[in-house]
Amino acid sequence: MSHAIQAVRGMNDLLPDTVPVWQRFERAARDVLHAYGYTEIRLPLLEKTELFARSIGDVTDIVEKEMYTFEDRNGDSLTLRPEGTAGCVRAGIENGLLHNQVQRFWYQGPMFRHERPQKGRYRQFHQLGVETFGMAGPDIDVELILLCARLWRALGVDGLELQLNSLGTLAARHLYRQQLVAYLEAHRAELDEDSLRRLDKNPMRVLDSKNPALQTIIAGAPNLQDALDAESREHFDWLCESLRAQGVVFRINPRLVRGLDYYSRTVFEWTTDRLGAQSAICAGGRFDSLVEHLGGRPMPAAGFAIGLERLIELLTREGVNAAAQAPHLYLAVLDDAAGRGALGLAERLRDAGLRVQLNCGGGALKSQLKRADRSGAPYCLLYGGETEHQGVALKDLRSGEQQELPVERAIEFLKGRTATAVTTFD
Ligand code: ATP
Ligand code: MG
Repeated sequence: MSHAIQAVRGMNDLLPDTVPVWQRFERAARDVLHAYGYTEIRLPLLEKTELFARSIGDVTDIVEKEMYTFEDRNGDSLTLRPEGTAGCVRAGIENGLLHNQVQRFWYQGPMFRHERPQKGRYRQFHQLGVETFGMAGPDIDVELILLCARLWRALGVDGLELQLNSLGTLAARHLYRQQLVAYLEAHRAELDEDSLRRLDKNPMRVLDSKNPALQTIIAGAPNLQDALDAESREHFDWLCESLRAQGVVFRINPRLVRGLDYYSRTVFEWTTDRLGAQSAICAGGRFDSLVEHLGGRPMPAAGFAIGLERLIELLTREGVNAAAQAPHLYLAVLDDAAGRGALGLAERLRDAGLRVQLNCGGGALKSQLKRADRSGAPYCLLYGGETEHQGVALKDLRSGEQQELPVERAIEFLKGRTATAVTTFD
């Protein structure tokens, strides 16, 4: 036997026992997104490297060290998407979806970042992302946050903290940056290597450092909120007031900046204290300059992305009850001669709206009944042998009771027993 090949580090299999929780999330998310009028967009996993370099910014963790970049057979540099916003904007521009229109998109799928794998941090992970275009006011920022809050409620997740900040306009940020650089220069000796590099190229990103040794310096840095321009201030105040009016609790965190360069004005994050260091579940904000930056006409935009592994971990811890959709019945085949007939019977049962798992590959009755139990079905139908021409035997797997009856009666009986399950089947 040759050695077994293992998965790539940081890239996980989602096994059938966890997938029902993902599906439960997906159903809830779809319902909530529809309730707000968002439409799904599906985008490639691979994009030109240039797209991310230009949109995310050179001096970010992602572009500096996390991207899966390679040359394809034509010598073109391609990158597995580390996030979804850049591709969504690219697609919007390329397909003429952003011109003179308002759009509300969502997508879900895998993202790839070459990070150090640990709990809540993987090299392939999943995001549900939402991007809106063409709306400059704070009302859409509020809508995005209300949408998240509704989703948490639908999933039964509580205890998330909403943190808010405003990054202001580019011009306001420029002024703030000067104050920040002066402050950080004064603490140069205490900064780590990453921060020193950022200090020269993109000092705001020092505030985003995860290094515990830097947290005191970061806490003492000039306050971005004090540096806001009047319009951004007004935008932010309107947002905060509207959230209060809707009963959404939040905390203003003046150190909150995003890992990506293209944000402006509103930024927000939903965090939890239940998952250790990987506390951010959802991050978003406005990126008013990105569309133009990627070659489109100027167009305001705002969105967010939820980290699904972290959210699913929370759901699982809270004991979300998401049983797999077990079959309604297991169809056991009593002798080889009945095999073909059983295939036909299984189809008839499915036509009647039942979920049927058919015993394939033969086996003694005892082992078929074991498989029936393992399938989670409440009933087993025994087909073939003595009863082949007169009817079937129906076994209640919970009570062990068994009765012989004509096929039609069995179908009627099972449909009656599973009526609720059949009508709610998604
Ligand atoms: P972090 O600060 O945790 O590195 P980030 O700022 O890099 O997060 P974003 O790019 O804003 O994250 O992505 C949005 C969300 O995606 C995060 O809040 C998080 O829930 C999730 N996420 C980001 N990177 C990973 C990863 N490597 N593995 C799992 N989830 C991730
Ligand atoms: Mg990161």
